[in-house]
Amino acid sequence: MSQEVIDPQRRPDAKWFEGGRAIPVASGCAYSDVGLSSGGVGLSTKRLTRFAAASWSTGVVRVEAGMTLAELERVALAKGWFPPVVPGTGRVTIGGAVAGDVHGKNHHAHGAFGDHVLAIWLFRSDHRCEVRVERGLPLFHATVGGLGLTGLITKVELQLKRAPGQLMESDHVPFSNIQDYFALDAASSDWEFRVAWVDCGTGSGPGIFTRSNWSPHDRPRRAAQALTLPGPLPFSVVGPASSWAFNRFYLAAGRARGRRLERCDQVLHPLDGVAGWNGLYGRSGFRQYQCVVPPQSRAAIGEIVESIAKSGLASPLTVLKTFGERNPSGLLSFCRPGVTLAVDFPNLNESVDRLFSRLDDIVEAAGGALYPSKDARIPERLLWAGFPDLSAFKAFRDPGLSSDFSRRYGL
Ligand SMILES: Cc1cc2nc3c(=O)[nH]c(=O)nc-3n(C[C@H](O)[C@H](O)[C@H](O)COP(=O)(O)OP(=O)(O)OC[C@H]3O[C@@H](n4cnc5c(N)ncnc54)[C@H](O)[C@@H]3O)c2cc1C
Repeated sequence: MSQEVIDPQRRPDAKWFEGGRAIPVASGCAYSDVGLSSGGVGLSTKRLTRFAAASWSTGVVRVEAGMTLAELERVALAKGWFPPVVPGTGRVTIGGAVAGDVHGKNHHAHGAFGDHVLAIWLFRSDHRCEVRVERGLPLFHATVGGLGLTGLITKVELQLKRAPGQLMESDHVPFSNIQDYFALDAASSDWEFRVAWVDCGTGSGPGIFTRSNWSPHDRPRRAAQALTLPGPLPFSVVGPASSWAFNRFYLAAGRARGRRLERCDQVLHPLDGVAGWNGLYGRSGFRQYQCVVPPQSRAAIGEIVESIAKSGLASPLTVLKTFGERNPSGLLSFCRPGVTLAVDFPNLNESVDRLFSRLDDIVEAAGGALYPSKDARIPERLLWAGFPDLSAFKAFRDPGLSSDFSRRYGL
């Protein structure tokens, strides 16, 4: 069933919320159905792209919810500021970043996106007007990570962080197994951004650990020409053999790397430099599995990597990060103390479902959670176990809004 997408700015008198099946939609970077309402109405924030206010002496900005992070980064960087937390793509909007309470590569240092939000302007179907919701109010903490279910976010006030320039110093360090990753991560407390790419083709999980800091050197560099891939291809070129070859090549290249200066967008949004990368998975696309397990159960990450290797379903994109010891801002925030692993697989056949079920068992036994923005098939028991505040969250729901995600779980 399709979803009509409307621009609430152009049709202010429209009865968007009737039937309770409207849902805010932004850039559509969520991999799951949190921004889909089959047979309902998508409330697009495409035209909400302006600065409402900005103080470049304090770094406090008030921006409309449809502005992309890439745009905010561009303007803020020119004034010596930067959003403290950004996810892997700059295409995400400010509203989407709040609604998903997204994380970046520096959770241990600066938490998640919602930790830097001072106030939210929300349009709710039951209030029929825009209300300002400040940090500390219960509705604020339901809206951060609330997946668009507490109202349409129209504006966000955000505290930016000082940034010396557009360059970062990165250090790329190969490691031979998951234990080595944990040791490297623990020894890298001086580095703000930390992430590892893991080769899941072998059970031990060798990979490359990348740690980066803002650099005081600011020799302006031109943005690299984005590489554009054809696509979507009629078939997936990402399979066990090509993933295996890619992983061997990437590992070998990593050994030669070491330290170097890189532009911040190359470090923070690497896939944005390859337009159409997802077309390589063919018309059936790909699926991502992202979990987080608590620190005391981090051995589960080794079990997951081993299970993936045994399945024969190789993945060219497996990302490992360690979250810091910080309590989340949102009732439904995914980030929590622990280790998170995200793995992409071509959407080929039921062998992917079988593997995901095996991984679910490991995550459940570890007391972990799956990321609702990434996964449209989270088993109900795992959702409720991973998000114990779901019942409390229900009290803040906007009755005019729902998504395929919320209806599946009776939220
Ligand atoms: C290449 C890539 C890399 C990614 N890397 C990361 C990462 O490193 N870390 C991470 O946490 N996530 C990551 N993501 C996921 C992405 O950051 C989140 O899913 C984010 O919420 C998507 O934002 P969006 O603006 O595209 O919103 P959409 O995908 O359109 O919507 C996502 C959710 O936000 C709600 N929403 C959007 N706008 C509003 C609004 N104005 N008011 C109320 N609700 C709203 C929608 O209803 C929906 O529930 C990545 C995604 C991609 C494609």
